[in-house]
Amino acid sequence: QGDLMKGKRGLIMGVANKNSIAWHIAQQLKAQGAELGFTYANEALERRVRPLAESVNADLILECDVLSDQSMDAAFKTVADKWGEIDFLVHAIAFTDKTALEGSFVENTTREIFRDTMDVSAFSFVDAANRASKMMKPGGSMITLTYLGSERTVPNYNVMGVAKAALEASTRYIARDLGPQGIRVNAISAGPIKTLAAAGISSGRHMFSFNRAASPLRDDTDPKGVAGAALYLLSDLGASCTGETHHVDGGFHIVGMPDEAALKG
Ligand code: NAD
Repeated sequence: QGDLMKGKRGLIMGVANKNSIAWHIAQQLKAQGAELGFTYANEALERRVRPLAESVNADLILECDVLSDQSMDAAFKTVADKWGEIDFLVHAIAFTDKTALEGSFVENTTREIFRDTMDVSAFSFVDAANRASKMMKPGGSMITLTYLGSERTVPNYNVMGVAKAALEASTRYIARDLGPQGIRVNAISAGPIKTLAAAGISSGRHMFSFNRAASPLRDDTDPKGVAGAALYLLSDLGASCTGETHHVDGGFHIVGMPDEAALKG
């Protein structure tokens, strides 16, 4: 409990259920006094998201499919009408066809899958950031969620890794464009966390156990650590930090070659 986010109001895009990274972030922000609004992807998810959002006294709970201009227009118009200004944006959205998350990247990535994955998982941040920036004053802050599969190859992450590379590059360009308005834009590169999205990746179990064994901290990534990083970046604690991709992954990203003992253990 604290007041790091007191007087700040923002939109959380990407809660699907209580395991969602966006939900961990939302709870941390609420505990620091933030006023929250939520968007959910479709009617089917409303049943799960509404009770969570209500439990933190959310002001706005809106449907928003990032693939639809109409849906984005409507959601952001409601935010503008009801709030006028916002202080922060959390973008925690990604999707690809399950067939693209296994086997050969080069064989399984069709034009349609490539385009759709980029659209939901990278362009949606550009679009949301543009819309949100029109309602932000200097001091505003935005974050998105990414993964190491953008920088290095990870089995089965495939086209999603390519989309995350585009998302991270977009973060830098958005940060450059919005910096002169005093708006900060960053990405958090989280290690594997058990969520709906992670369940779609085949060989997920190997991913978790390898990360535990090879990362310096020898443990799963704690979603509370991701939420803590989000709080830092979205609050005034993160002043002067922009365009950054911040890793919260037990240090896995710094390891060139894991210890032999760690891999046997
Ligand atoms: P999640 O399944 O809880 O969240 C993904 C969200 O994306 C869901 O709320 C889903 O509704 C939303 N979404 C998908 N298509 C959408 C659309 N067309 N319109 C609006 N929303 C849409 O899983 P998560 O792991 O919390 O994922 C959040 C973010 O974190 C994603 O960008 C993911 O790639 C990233 N991430 C996850 C991990 C992990 O291991 N779980 C690691 C690093 C980064």
